[in-house]
Amino acid sequence: MVIVAGAGSGGLVAALAAADQGADVLLLEVDKQAHVACNSARSTGMVMGAGTYLQKAAGVDDAWQDLLADVLRKNGGDCAQDVAEALCRNSGALVDWLVDAHGLPLTVVTDFRYPGHSNYHMHAMPNRTGRELVEGLWNVARGNSRITVAEGVKLVGLGCSPDGAVNRVHVRYLDGSDDWVDADGVVLATNGFGGRRDWVREYIPQMLEALYFGGPYSDGSGIEAAIEVGAGISYMDAYQGHATVSADTGILVSYSVVMTGGILVNARGDRFDDETRGYSELAEVMTRQPQGVAFAIFDHSTYTVARRFNDFREVDEMGSVRVWHSLAGMGSTLGFEAERWENTLRMLHECQQGHQDPFGRSNYGPEWQPPWYSVKVQGALLHTQGGLTVNRSAQVLSVDGTPIHGLYACGGAAAGISGQGAAGYLSGNGLLSAMGLGYLAARSLTGGR
Ligand SMILES: Cc1cc2nc3c(=O)[nH]c(=O)nc-3n(C[C@H](O)[C@H](O)[C@H](O)COP(=O)(O)OP(=O)(O)OC[C@H]3O[C@@H](n4cnc5c(N)ncnc54)[C@H](O)[C@@H]3O)c2cc1C
Repeated sequence: MVIVAGAGSGGLVAALAAADQGADVLLLEVDKQAHVACNSARSTGMVMGAGTYLQKAAGVDDAWQDLLADVLRKNGGDCAQDVAEALCRNSGALVDWLVDAHGLPLTVVTDFRYPGHSNYHMHAMPNRTGRELVEGLWNVARGNSRITVAEGVKLVGLGCSPDGAVNRVHVRYLDGSDDWVDADGVVLATNGFGGRRDWVREYIPQMLEALYFGGPYSDGSGIEAAIEVGAGISYMDAYQGHATVSADTGILVSYSVVMTGGILVNARGDRFDDETRGYSELAEVMTRQPQGVAFAIFDHSTYTVARRFNDFREVDEMGSVRVWHSLAGMGSTLGFEAERWENTLRMLHECQQGHQDPFGRSNYGPEWQPPWYSVKVQGALLHTQGGLTVNRSAQVLSVDGTPIHGLYACGGAAAGISGQGAAGYLSGNGLLSAMGLGYLAARSLTGGR
């Protein structure tokens, strides 16, 4: 029996792929609310895939080599390149399999390209939420006779045979009792350590005081269990931040508000960066702005695109997206300093006319049309991208670089492909590492059965 710990997108994909290969799977999940609370459910649910049937049907000519080039451009080539290649190479097959074999109603997203994307790589569920994605995967997993789901059960340790292969897991139940369960192979899909303050202080101190926006059980427990049996860790300072979490509602505001022409302005009325550099690296920049907040400001055409995202509609319907019929009125009501706001608007107008942006931004879109909109946003730590060192089959490597037999990791539990810090994170790396490594782990440990 294969044991998968963690039922986010990584664990669910690993469980389904292993079951498809004929394995019996025990899926352990500590959180009875995982279908809404895990990181995958909190996400926007954008899944990267290159060369999918959906892309071909939409006239998008994409190739895994182009996706890999985007990943490596964003992280400066700083990652385990064989892992990145394996993920990109299999990304199209993964999306096709989710649609064909498991009926997930994914579509390719062609409204806009995410920062750093040279093509329309993203696929999403109809409402573009991670919750819809996770619930879709849960429904399929629950209906699969080879998969036994055990909720309220936490993996707290691993056991090995005399030759060092992982062959059992130590579990703890909600009532505090514990047990050991034998396993033919283990996949750690327990996400990272964003919810564990001592590790965030040690590895990502610059985000210690930022809002943490990830799942409550991302406490590094899977990583810790593997370290205890000799696993190596890498890229522990890597993380995904996000620049546009609604400061009033705590809901993520789709970055389409920036990528289709919007700007970020701090509480004084100044722009402070090239907003299209990437929302991950801008999260930390946001924490250094006055009061730690900014306003995403955009026009009606951007608003129309953003309304296609469920999360944005929720923020809008909760009254946090404000509509304005005068930009001057917007500035004075939001408390911007008049001269700074005028400068910002002058700069914006010139850039929309094709002038050089002092911050280096190149894609402004056309001149804004009224009405205009604002939403107050803050930077947040979404999840960590460092973790257990894995090879191209998602097998965990020991500190000396040799594979630990029987032990695999995916998603936030594994070292990702996002370089160091926040800037190497390409939008979509998170779910690609979760679902992609889960897929590769399952295929490897079942021997492609
Ligand atoms: C707001 C937001 C938006 C995002 N948008 C995107 C996006 O659009 N595209 C993208 O690619 N990435 C996105 N990401 C990143 C993405 O969500 C994560 O990279 C991905 O979900 C990680 O998946 P996972 O399966 O590793 O972890 P999770 O989905 O968090 O699943 C881990 C599960 O393991 C359980 N668990 C933890 N410890 C244990 C244990 N010891 N025993 C048993 N169970 C345990 C947890 O309860 C949880 O259910 C976003 C993240 C956030 C927060």
